[in-house]
Amino acid sequence: MDNNNSISLYIHIPFCVSKCAYCDFTSFPISQNSNQRFSDYFSALNHELMYLIKHHLSPSYSLSSLYIGGGTPSVVPFKYYKPLLEKVLHQFNHPAEFTCEVNPGSVSREFLHGLKDYGCTRISMGMQSPNDDTLEIVNRHQTLSRFIQAYSKIRALFSNVNIDLICGLPESLQEWFEKSGDLVAKLAPEHCSIYILETEKETPLGNQVRNGAIVLPTFEYTTEIFELMIWRLKNAGYRQYEISNFSLPGCESIHNHCYWETKNYLGLGVSAGGYFNGFRYVNTHSLSEYLNADFENESHYDYHSVNSAEENLREFLFMGLRLKEGIFLDELNAKFPDASVEKMINVLSGSKYMIFSNGYLRLNDYYFIHNREAFEYLLDVL
Ligand code: SF4
Repeated sequence: MDNNNSISLYIHIPFCVSKCAYCDFTSFPISQNSNQRFSDYFSALNHELMYLIKHHLSPSYSLSSLYIGGGTPSVVPFKYYKPLLEKVLHQFNHPAEFTCEVNPGSVSREFLHGLKDYGCTRISMGMQSPNDDTLEIVNRHQTLSRFIQAYSKIRALFSNVNIDLICGLPESLQEWFEKSGDLVAKLAPEHCSIYILETEKETPLGNQVRNGAIVLPTFEYTTEIFELMIWRLKNAGYRQYEISNFSLPGCESIHNHCYWETKNYLGLGVSAGGYFNGFRYVNTHSLSEYLNADFENESHYDYHSVNSAEENLREFLFMGLRLKEGIFLDELNAKFPDASVEKMINVLSGSKYMIFSNGYLRLNDYYFIHNREAFEYLLDVL
């Protein structure tokens, strides 16, 4: 449980130009006449915000970070955001970090200036692959030259930028590694997130892989290339501070830290989740249910529950071990005074996956990269 009065807020915008073949996020393609939909959605977001303020938030809470993600927030004209942001910023302070995800293909000057005027401090852009052919195969309407143009437009206004990449798409990974590494070194964003492609989920790409229409690089080879990328980024001055996240010194994501440290956050919007003093919830994944919710009771949740002490401990370990530095023993003791922390540390650090050193429990260097096996082990022993 987090007893201090700071909180992070996530706002989910579930609209995209089209659906990428690997995507399992809650997002819906827009059409020519989506304006009514945007208007209805932002009206529902306003209602949910009022619900959260009424039931969870006293004005004494201070906002440590705000994150607008999706979906593709930049496909919605900025005028729809204004009333919502005014309410958020009236209820709270301006947060130290305010991030918005944008798509290089859809971001307009008006959108970027609007964000800037409302105190946005950080932009996150999806590049995924520097190869136009690959982007076309996965139905992502974007090109490298468009990405670079958008990046320089964003750079003129924002001094903190994240670039997302995916390792393991259907392409030459050697080429992905060389081109992406060169591009990051040249553009020098403050932050870079690199995800290894997951195809186990029900996505068009996952189905194509299962029925043999697309053959992907093996997981072992993808991990090898990911490891090379770690070194490439390290040489360019980036530190891998979390399994999938790299930053220049002092530029780690404040918002994502709140997830990894299981601090309080609230999620607003269809499919968004939150964790608030042990109460965990996930909103409905159905857009029509969300648009029709009255936000008077708990019917807009897909899931809600007050975590037991064991669940809180399990989540704390799973999330904290994603961080390179791991989990600080004193914090573990302070948060879970009733747990047999010492015994647990002995068991975990006695395994081949983890070490305990300088007061921190963390994954060792090998299993920080090959972490699937380490988390399966953790699932078995906890
Ligand atoms: S832009 Fe992002 S959220 Fe939208 S379909 Fe593609 S991966 Fe999914």
